[in-house]
Amino acid sequence: MIPKAVKLQVGELSGTDLVHADDSRAGPEVAPSISVSTTFKYPDPSTNPASFSEWDPLKPETKHIYSRYTQNVSSRAEQVLSQINKGYALTYSSGLASGYAALISCQPKCIAITDGYHGYHNTIALYRKTRQDVEIIGIDDDFKQGTLCWLETPLNPIGESRDIQYYADKVHAVGGRLVVDSTFAPPPLQYPFKWGADIIMHSGTKYFGGHSDLLCGVLIVKTREEWLSLWSDRAYLGNVMGNLESWLLLRSLRTLHLRVPRQSETATALAKWLSAAAGADKAVDGIPAGMISKVWHSSLQGKDRRGFDPAKQMEGGWNATFSIQMANADHATFLPHSLKYFVPATSLGGVESLIEQRFQVDPSVDPKMLRISVGVENIEDLKDDLRKGMQEVASKVSLCPKILLRSLADSLQVRTKL
Ligand SMILES: *Cc1c(COP(=O)(O)O)cnc(C)c1O
Repeated sequence: MIPKAVKLQVGELSGTDLVHADDSRAGPEVAPSISVSTTFKYPDPSTNPASFSEWDPLKPETKHIYSRYTQNVSSRAEQVLSQINKGYALTYSSGLASGYAALISCQPKCIAITDGYHGYHNTIALYRKTRQDVEIIGIDDDFKQGTLCWLETPLNPIGESRDIQYYADKVHAVGGRLVVDSTFAPPPLQYPFKWGADIIMHSGTKYFGGHSDLLCGVLIVKTREEWLSLWSDRAYLGNVMGNLESWLLLRSLRTLHLRVPRQSETATALAKWLSAAAGADKAVDGIPAGMISKVWHSSLQGKDRRGFDPAKQMEGGWNATFSIQMANADHATFLPHSLKYFVPATSLGGVESLIEQRFQVDPSVDPKMLRISVGVENIEDLKDDLRKGMQEVASKVSLCPKILLRSLADSLQVRTKL
């Protein structure tokens, strides 16, 4: 038997853990059964005298009661997530639901956040409805006593990394806590506890789910006590993941170590390929001249002035979602609809590659920006798709009367504002 300590190498994710970490909760069936029951028979007191008060939600298989507390398949998914993240994981109905649960648990009076996933800023606004005294500051402002620093890395939508250790030290110096939204970098790409995070959050909708077919959120904490407190809050917030979703999640986790490194590798190669064409005054490998003005990706970021090296933090590979800036907003509007394999849709992390003009869901973003989520297709097919799409858009957009394009782009904007 291989000792546990040497099992997890740098940047490595154990397929054995993904497939077997929940074996203790499995029944005689090889593949987990779907369980939709909300309620469970009480054990017979003559054979099992355990009372509700003695019940341990970390070992719920002794007695599931009601699926708002625990349920077999979600407990199994949590066991796998705990093992691969080296902590205690709890699942929620969505990424934002888990982010809200972190706020309810920490009750911060001061939250430090800068940019990142737009929806979470609205979640914080909801939290402020319950506490008018909450102050919002930037992550590079001076922290107040007890600040909760919300650090998203890599950052949505651009996909660049932030220095977890730096913000962990900064917030711990004022007795505060660091939550890392690590959605863009699931294991094996990044392990935020290694760099000082107190709580890790994931939108499990993205890479853990991996197939664009379930909503889920995950919080990972370091102690049993903190997990129990979150679990108790969840029972009364009622923001549990659905029973069917838990089955989809567990099924998807089995292949996380196959999907994510492949997506990461393809995305890194695509980012490099696209960046070679950024700002070029002649066509580069079939990408028309002057189409792309910038490519953001952790791999292209380099060390910052404090010496932070994203390569160390992203130990298992670079993120598989990143953004490009087109020189022309009309190109950004039409390219997603001129591709064969990339789907023009929001979200990320699934097996199919997606591309979106980010502005359509987040009006604070430049309309020239496109966010790309790389799936598991063959890289040459993806390159070919982008190459042909860009050529088509370049020729069409230059033929189309500007006025028509503007009115199309305007109608898209109106739609998203409604
Ligand atoms: C999608 C996303 C969320 C929100 O997750 P949901 O599951 O959609 O609620 C939060 N943070 C980041 C970085 C995301 O990409």
